[in-house]
Amino acid sequence: MYIVSACLLGQNCKYNGGNNRSDEVVEFCRTHRYVTVCPESAGRLPSPRPPAEKVGNRILDKRGNDLTDAFVRGAEISLKSCLEMSRLSGEKIEGAILKANSPSCGAGHIYDGTFSGTLIEGNGVFAGMLRRLGIEIITEKEKIKW
Ligand code: SF4
Repeated sequence: MYIVSACLLGQNCKYNGGNNRSDEVVEFCRTHRYVTVCPESAGRLPSPRPPAEKVGNRILDKRGNDLTDAFVRGAEISLKSCLEMSRLSGEKIEGAILKANSPSCGAGHIYDGTFSGTLIEGNGVFAGMLRRLGIEIITEKEKIKW
């Protein structure tokens, strides 16, 4: 089974109240078992909400509010539910398709904390947890290889 960012499947959980639907990811999910996650929703952040970025080890929104606890809690809840789903189904987690550049789901690159659209190397909070478990991640910007 695969872990998929909910906004890539059209769920309106993005910070601006919209989504990041990807036809390629939707098509992939028609033929593969998957579990959707939105770590920021799991952390009880509303949609819409101000955009947030990683600043050092903290997550701050554009107004300067520190949302680190909500991001970490949401990522932990999401991870736990994925592992539980895997355990109950007896299916290994084969990989994850996550939204690029997000402070939760971004893998390899995230915004630099200046809210200027500048990318730096790094992982979002949830993606970092998956990486530490050795789960392979691609983003919707890459060709799906599975
Ligand atoms: S990028 Fe991740 S946390 Fe952000 S809306 Fe999509 S699924 Fe939720």
